[in-house]
Amino acid sequence: MLQGPVALVSGHGNRCLAASGRIDLAMTTETCAQGRAPEVLALDPELLLAWFDANVRDLPWRRPECTPWGVLASEVMLQQTPVARVEPVWREWMARWPRPSALAAASQAEVVRAWGKLGYPRRALRLHAAATAIAEKHGDVVPADVDTLLALPGIGAYTARAVAAFAYGRRCPVVDTNVRRVVARAVQGAGDAGPPATNRDLADVQALLPAEENRAARYSAALMELGQVVCTARSPRCADCPVVDRCAWHRAGRPAYQGPTRPTQKFAGTDRQVRGLLLDVLRGSSGPVERPALDAVWADAGQRDRCLDSLLVDGLIEQTDDGRFALPGEG
Ligand code: SF4
Repeated sequence: MLQGPVALVSGHGNRCLAASGRIDLAMTTETCAQGRAPEVLALDPELLLAWFDANVRDLPWRRPECTPWGVLASEVMLQQTPVARVEPVWREWMARWPRPSALAAASQAEVVRAWGKLGYPRRALRLHAAATAIAEKHGDVVPADVDTLLALPGIGAYTARAVAAFAYGRRCPVVDTNVRRVVARAVQGAGDAGPPATNRDLADVQALLPAEENRAARYSAALMELGQVVCTARSPRCADCPVVDRCAWHRAGRPAYQGPTRPTQKFAGTDRQVRGLLLDVLRGSSGPVERPALDAVWADAGQRDRCLDSLLVDGLIEQTDDGRFALPGEG
């Protein structure tokens, strides 16, 4: 029996989470009050794993021959970036830098250039820093346990657990936006997960994991896959969902989400866009560039200067003694 915030869509007396006030479960008042229906797990491992086995996308970092290093690189690249954009870059990186020590031996400029248009380029430097630590302190082998992974530079709570689970088959909660959304809907009956709360989110997913390690790791991958391809944010395909009959939110008639929301991230006109344009100039140059080449990419001088400063602070670019700008190490 699973512990914690158990995924009940029907249940007994004090096990009725709807009655706890914490969540709005898809449970009829009659069923809840009578308490006669058997407990049913909304995100039942049997259902989810059977669906996953039949529907798993064939992605290169999921293949048996993929190394833990490949898994780590994929997880860093996939944060906030779609699979279709990541896959070609990941393949290039794995061909060029098949081991952490290979990436560690590359310059920061090579790494930032090879990151291409994946966005959030600080991830490239973080991956480089993690590769350096793995090469120097861990014999060029990606660590398997969460605490050691967390001690690597640039590796956060999500990535550490994703690597432990997906590269080494460990039982640990892997929680990203997709997983939070699936749990919020299927288990908690809410249309959206709302703002993250790391400890609570981890505990919620931990409680759902099967006991056996490898099974738990596949379950984590299945949860994430369900959120990515079926239980999507804007258009959940409930008719294709393996847990549609048990999903609390669906059973409740998919009520509109009433809780707090995160601001939607736009791109056009943001500092992210300007930083990307400035970096593009440097990626396209084999050496330092003059200031006018950067000034040409964005008309708003204040925003442009702010973005240039932030790139310098982040170590993504550097300034030469004669005032030109370059990728790190190329000045
Ligand atoms: S796809 Fe629909 S039925 Fe499946 S978990 Fe999401 S909201 Fe529930």
